[in-house]
Formats: sequence, structure tokens, C-alpha cells
Amino acid sequence: MKVSVLGYSGGYPQAGGACSAYLVTEGETRVMLDFGAGVLPRLMALMDPSALCAIVMSHWHFDHASDLLPLSYYLDMNQLTLRLVGPEEPQPLREIIALREEVSLEPLLGTREIGGLRLAAQRVIHPVPAYALKLTNAQGKVLVYTGDAAGGEGLADFCRGADLLICDASFTRAQWHEGLPHFSAAQAGELAREARVKRLMLTHFQPGADVKTLVQEAREAFPDAFPASLDLAIEI
Ligand SMILES: [Zn+2]
Repeated sequence: MKVSVLGYSGGYPQAGGACSAYLVTEGETRVMLDFGAGVLPRLMALMDPSALCAIVMSHWHFDHASDLLPLSYYLDMNQLTLRLVGPEEPQPLREIIALREEVSLEPLLGTREIGGLRLAAQRVIHPVPAYALKLTNAQGKVLVYTGDAAGGEGLADFCRGADLLICDASFTRAQWHEGLPHFSAAQAGELAREARVKRLMLTHFQPGADVKTLVQEAREAFPDAFPASLDLAIEI
């Protein structure tokens, strides 16, 4: 399984970048996790978006989902369709996308097969219904992506032993306080340690974020933590 970072910004994309979007490749299977602002042109530089097996959404916040809107026009103008899996709880952007005939929208419930991968989801704490996503291949290699999260009951168990954890790490210790909708980098490191994952990628950096400090603080609990960067590709 290969994971490529097409975007990692939180809130809005940095210049030339994109918000949350991860391309997962397993043999012929290609799946996107989230489809944030700015990802469509970055994906089109790599492949025809309609060749994706599915796009799986962690939640419907605009910075994770807004490029689904022009994607629906692309599909319509080229008479294509695409499978989309996402939380079924009503959200404004979800309701718009659900009306688009080019997209076949499925609820994010239970486990399911997407090509050569098995998808599972786990509710996390965030201001809107949001889920951590897990993809497992036939060899038992596991990717977990927290999406946006400030914790979640059973989240460490859901992440347990993952070969790669992509974790929300939005804030430094100095920035973080109770009630914020995202993990701090230190909390991301602690989750990775508790779940005994093999690798930890920190993500969801706001443009201008102090990534050096975020990485340092995550490494206090998980020494091999590393930051997401554009086009970074990880084999797991
Ligand atoms: Zn969010």
C-alpha cells in the first residue's frame, strides 16, 4: 500500500498547496481520503479522477471536502461517475453533493471493501460528525487517518498497531487548550505511543504553522514522528 500526500493544510491551503487529501494506492485500487481545497488540480496532474475506486470522507468541513464541488462539474462535463463514501449525518456540503447525479454517495457505516482494501471508520470528537478512517490490505497492512479529531472513545484501540497513523496535529502545546477541535502535536505523539503504531505522520498544519515545534513536541512521546509534506509518499 502506498500513501501519497496531495494536501495537508488545515483551514485553507498554503500557497501552491492543498488542504487534506491522501491518495492511497494498492495494486489497481486507488482511493482518496478527503478531498480538500486545492486538491483537484493536484490530483489531475497525476491521474484522471474518475479512475479512483472511491473518495472516502472523514467529515464534511469545507477544508476537507470543498473540491468535491468542481469535481462534480468535471465528472458531469465528461459524463463520468464516481463512488463517494462519507458520513451520513446532514451537513450543508453533503446535501449539495448528494444532489449531484455524477456522484454515488454511500454512508460511512460498518466495514466495506473498496477494491483491494477494507475500510472501517470510528467516530471522533470534532464540532461536526467526524470519523477516523482505517484501510487494511490483503496482507494485513494498516493505515489509519484520524481526520480532524480532538480525541475519541476507543480511538487508541482503533489505531492499535497501525503500520502508519496520519494524525491531526494542529497545535503546539502553547496554542492548545481544552475545547479546541483538534489534537495538539503532543497529543498525536501520545496517541501513537499508546496505540503502538509503527509510524506517525503529523498533519493538518495551518499555513504559517511552526512545524518544527510541532514535530519536536510529538517526538517527546513518539521519537520517529514526521511531518506531512506535499507529494510525500510512504510505502507501508
Ligand atoms: Zn474539521
